[in-house]
Amino acid sequence: MDVDTRLAEDWVRAIAAAVERDHQRLTELDTAIGDGDHGSNLRRGFAAVLAVLDNPDNSGSPDGPDAPAPDAGPGAVLTRTGSTLISKVGGASGPLYGKAFRAIGAALPPPGQPPADAAGLGEALAAGLRAVRDLGRAAPGDKTVVDAWTPALDAYREAVAAGAGLPEAAAAAAAGAERGARDTEPLQARKGRASYLGPRSIGHRDPGAASTALIFRALADITAG
Ligand code: ADP
Ligand code: MG
Repeated sequence: MDVDTRLAEDWVRAIAAAVERDHQRLTELDTAIGDGDHGSNLRRGFAAVLAVLDNPDNSGSPDGPDAPAPDAGPGAVLTRTGSTLISKVGGASGPLYGKAFRAIGAALPPPGQPPADAAGLGEALAAGLRAVRDLGRAAPGDKTVVDAWTPALDAYREAVAAGAGLPEAAAAAAAGAERGARDTEPLQARKGRASYLGPRSIGHRDPGAASTALIFRALADITAG
């Protein structure tokens, strides 16, 4: 399975649908150890992402504003997604996920080059995690997005190394992210708002790790047979 424009758009739409379905749960998680806006932050962000997907700005097209958008490739879809999240989402998660999607997009080959395969997408997902870590300076165990993304990436790479194709690797990544999100419950937060609570952050699932699990589950869902 190639990482083409269709796959990138399907992934982004599936994330938006998952956020729409689960925003209340994300907000409840953030109410317990943050400021109760994680669900609404992502909901606003992905609504804007969908609006951009559905109405690409063709105003600069030589064929006029109503011309069909040229296929800019999956990298452009994901880069645009990241830029939209950065511009529309306040809070820690907007810049973090925004940079992550921009990095994933930038790591995919441009149109005209052979598309990424399962291993290539793994490299792009690794670039996404690096972007989160560069910006947020969180390490594994700090009770953040990193605690879901890291086991997701490890499981994805392990699957690819064992010969799995993209759907199987994505399913492994989703399970890894979900496990990582659950495993944030006993942790004490050391980054972000939840860290202000100190030991009182223990016993709650990190909202960002939970939304990262949605992102990887969406990838598994859209690539599954
Ligand atoms: P805010 O905390 O500004 O209200 P959100 O509620 O949208 O933003 O997002 C909170 C989530 O952001 C946390 O649950 C955590 O997973 C993630 N997060 C916060 N700070 C960091 C960081 N430095 N590195 C990685 N993830 C972080
Ligand atoms: Mg919040």
